Amino acid sequence: MTAATPPIEWGKEPADLEDAFPPAVAAIDDTLAGRLAATGAEVRVDAAARAEASRDWWPLAQRWSLVGRAPARPAAVVRPKTAAQTAAVVRVAAEAGIPVTATAGRSGVCGGAVPVFGGIALDCCGLTGVTEIDDESLRVTVAAGEFGSDLEDRVRTAGLTIGHFPQSMALATVGGWIACRGAGQYSTRYGKIEDIVAGLEVVLADGRIVRTGALAGAGPRSAMGPDLTQLFVGSEGTLGIVTAASLRAHPLAGHESRSAFAFPTFAAGLEALRRTLRRGATPAVLRLYDERESGRSFDLPGTNVLVALDEGHEPIVEAAMSVLADCCQDEGATRLDEGLVARWLEHRNDVSALASLTRGGIVVDTIEVAASWSALPELYADATSGLAQVEGCLNASAHESHAYLDGACLYFTFAGRGEDPADERWALRFYEESWKRVMEATRRHGGSISHHHGIGIVRGPFLREALGEGWSVLRALKSALDPAGILNPGKLGLPSPFGDAPSVSGARLA
Ligand SMILES: Cc1cc2nc3c(=O)[nH]c(=O)nc-3n(C[C@H](O)[C@H](O)[C@H](O)COP(=O)(O)OP(=O)(O)OC[C@H]3O[C@@H](n4cnc5c(N)ncnc54)[C@H](O)[C@@H]3O)c2cc1C
Repeated sequence: MTAATPPIEWGKEPADLEDAFPPAVAAIDDTLAGRLAATGAEVRVDAAARAEASRDWWPLAQRWSLVGRAPARPAAVVRPKTAAQTAAVVRVAAEAGIPVTATAGRSGVCGGAVPVFGGIALDCCGLTGVTEIDDESLRVTVAAGEFGSDLEDRVRTAGLTIGHFPQSMALATVGGWIACRGAGQYSTRYGKIEDIVAGLEVVLADGRIVRTGALAGAGPRSAMGPDLTQLFVGSEGTLGIVTAASLRAHPLAGHESRSAFAFPTFAAGLEALRRTLRRGATPAVLRLYDERESGRSFDLPGTNVLVALDEGHEPIVEAAMSVLADCCQDEGATRLDEGLVARWLEHRNDVSALASLTRGGIVVDTIEVAASWSALPELYADATSGLAQVEGCLNASAHESHAYLDGACLYFTFAGRGEDPADERWALRFYEESWKRVMEATRRHGGSISHHHGIGIVRGPFLREALGEGWSVLRALKSALDPAGILNPGKLGLPSPFGDAPSVSGARLA
């Protein structure tokens, strides 16, 4: 499988594109190209490869593609096949003092894989293979560039599942999941990627290879100082390059159960989920849609639809679904045809509508955040009403997609259109204002500004305030692990030797 290509075509030939963030290191000389090739990794400097590696699925940048604007092109695309080659490439880059941005499936939606200062786009998709399946201890060792669907197909032949099913299953890699702290649609039973990962192999900024957790011989839990695996989970390529991972697996489920309910209000649905989790029931899928999204996805306007599914050992599944049904009934829900779950399953990975909206001049994006149960109803009301008040807004809606004992993820969708759909200044203003409103509402109600998409470019300006004094710890970690600042510079809003971290309003208009 090769790296994914975002679905929007370029408006110009690759050689003629303009960079929205003009890169500091736009070219490498033949000597450096030769040194990179000597590592054994594939090296490409042609216009087509550099153009594709300039972008991911960031929706704003997809709009730019239509008018021939690349986010930022790297000087070279380098694709290692092993951890040793990856380490050698990073060493060459460190000696030359040029940026190295890990890119993989490029399905990230926040611009995380965009090489904003140029240099090397390190294509991790050449790191493939499942090297160990341990059925007894339920652990799988896999190279970081393995795509999600390929990994799941492979472990299923051994009667196991990883249980991690992001909507981008076929587009994203294991390394990308880990780098962004991803979440799958069955996360209430199987956990988020930070719960699934048991150990890592990571190439540091000076080319050293470090192994953590299960890959360093540790047991299922440890008290051996801070958890070094979790240090790299969510670091978005800024602290190291993940080359392999040990993941926890589960036996394939023998039993499945589905149900669907309609709630009079979104808040009543949230309350039913809170009570379900509080009683210890964890159905794998718990997705609650607000009125707008219930109308759009299920032709049931005026209701708030919950689709639920659980799988596993039959008595446990039936008990969990029975607790859920009781809690839904207590909150005034009516049972719906469970065929709605099949409908959700059938369409759950279809995002073709987003590309056609973008082609039609509509500015659209999604924002996922997380907050405690006590904050969620007000956060939902605050963020959707804030979005709806942005001039040009056509849609402000949300669904709950991942639930925990102490809270849940809200996934907002906004869309808008200016009087002139080709007006880029209006598009940037609308986009930035919509993001700002949801980020600020989340902070007001005490939530996490991202639940699973990560920071990338778009959330960079908001991370410092969200972390408080923790920001100084993140900066210290970055300085200690990457003193020359070569790893994915400009991300997580961190300062870099190549220039200021980019922001939406800092994008150059053609
Ligand atoms: C249609 C669609 C649906 C989506 N649905 C979900 C969903 O359900 N759940 C979810 O969590 N996300 C979802 N996403 C977002 C995206 O798929 C995830 O963020 C994914 O984890 C990114 O993986 P990737 O391999 O594409 O990484 P990329 O986009 O290539 O990179 C993302 C970030 O990870 C870093 N990175 C990549 N590989 C490595 C590595 N080996 N070592 C160090 N850093 C690395 C990059 O530098 C970058 O910062 C969706 C995206 C799309 C387009």
